[in-house]
Amino acid sequence: MQTGELFRNLAVMALAAHSVILVATAMAHIWVLVALNVASVMLYATALILNAHRWYVAVLGIGIGEVSFHAVVATVILGWSSGFHIYLLALIPLVFFFDAWSLPGRVAASLATAAGYVLLYWYAQTHAPGDMTHPIVGFFGYTNLFVGAAVLAATSYYYGRTVSHAELVLRAKNRQLDELARTDALTGLPNRREALRLTEEEEIRSIRSEGCFALVLFDVDLFKRVNDSYGHDIGDDVLREVAGRLRGTFRAQDTVARWGGEEFLVILPQTNVQGAAVAAEKARASIQGDAFTVSGQELRLTVTAGVAVYYPGGRVTDVIKDADIALYRGKETGRNRVEVVDHRAGELS
Ligand code: GH3
Ligand code: MG
Ligand code: MG
Repeated sequence: MQTGELFRNLAVMALAAHSVILVATAMAHIWVLVALNVASVMLYATALILNAHRWYVAVLGIGIGEVSFHAVVATVILGWSSGFHIYLLALIPLVFFFDAWSLPGRVAASLATAAGYVLLYWYAQTHAPGDMTHPIVGFFGYTNLFVGAAVLAATSYYYGRTVSHAELVLRAKNRQLDELARTDALTGLPNRREALRLTEEEEIRSIRSEGCFALVLFDVDLFKRVNDSYGHDIGDDVLREVAGRLRGTFRAQDTVARWGGEEFLVILPQTNVQGAAVAAEKARASIQGDAFTVSGQELRLTVTAGVAVYYPGGRVTDVIKDADIALYRGKETGRNRVEVVDHRAGELS
């Protein structure tokens, strides 16, 4: 709940409560308290207006001032058994909500209120002319104790809700941060760190299922020329589109990640070398097939891909190296092609 909403609810409740007490004290002909309640009703009406203008400190001042003054005066006039002292006690936990005050300030305020409470008790015991016998005093005693306890319960409830809301916000923020840390800002694809984490996960899965998985490393051919001819921003747009096309050609269970610069790593779970080579070829053809539209002009791009495969017992870092070796073989032999490094090719076929 926002401060404004909370204060408005409290002020409305206080206004309603004082209107009831106003009628009750008038019926009991206790005119000092009638006057006091008229003043209280007017104060809370003012507080509502101030609250609508977001003058929260003034609203708070009115609330605390009214509650303590009213509690003291009513207890002095009607005696301890009227129960009005309870509101002084209910102020104590509220003090700790106002983080605009320093902690020592809040502790001092709560101790001062507690001291005032004890002082009021002492006064009521020694100076008051005995508790009033009017039946209204008994009525006040029960209702005030009940309302005071309800205020304490509401304070605790609001506190608990604030804490759990803060926890929810924190958890959502952590999730966002976690997501950001895994994502490449330019393309929205998983970044290199996330790709490495996923290859390690895939390694564990492969060992358990005694299956293999494949990696394909793509590098955009002669990308420097795109930057040189069109500028870095257009280069970024082209990289985003390459990312989208790669994502579009692979299966949902494959991971397409930005490995860095104009290089992309694709992880293909439960895929052998032939399957990965076919998928890589499809992606290569898709990049070459349709021109990229850049600043109203058509731009043709190609990519070179290196395919390697992980077998249980191997090391995933070696497979990444193999994909890199395959990629550079592709570059050396003329680009725009898919090359494969597979140490077990002879054994299997
Ligand atoms: P090839 O790979 O075919 O050998 O040639 P290339 O021109 O692609 O070679 P190289 O790997 O040396 O150059 C890659 C270029 O990619 C260099 C760099 O300026 C550019 N690049 C890397 N990251 C980004 C990026 O995030 N945005 C843009 N616009 N360009 C990038
Ligand atoms: Mg490169
Ligand atoms: Mg390149």
